[in-house]
Amino acid sequence: MKKKNREAAAQEEFARQALSLWPALKGSLRRVRKPCIRPGCPACARGDKHPAWLLSFTRQGKRHCMYVPIGLAPQLRRALKNGRRLEQLLYAMGPKMIREHRQARLAANGGKTNAAPTNAGLSKKKRPPKS
Ligand SMILES: [Zn+2]
Repeated sequence: MKKKNREAAAQEEFARQALSLWPALKGSLRRVRKPCIRPGCPACARGDKHPAWLLSFTRQGKRHCMYVPIGLAPQLRRALKNGRRLEQLLYAMGPKMIREHRQARLAANGGKTNAAPTNAGLSKKKRPPKS
């Protein structure tokens, strides 16, 4: 396949995968208990308060929280799961692009390898030294 076709195909594949992960978000959802505003509420008077969901997220390096309407919690849980999948998809893109570039170069050189470094000997424990 020509480079332009390969890139268009990769772009389409990425768009297809990303779209299938809608809705997606980053953050964390946790269950909390909060007091209500009803005067003389027995639950609040007992100190039980009311269950609620809280979404925590980071915006421009600052941590924020918002109360989540109870009916929206299932959709947000699904979006958080999709957010993690989308992140995994993005992490996989680097190695994929490098492998495809190597294969394209190999094909262009008629199968001859060059002196480009490979992952041989690289593991999670042995990283290249920082220079
Ligand atoms: Zn209450």
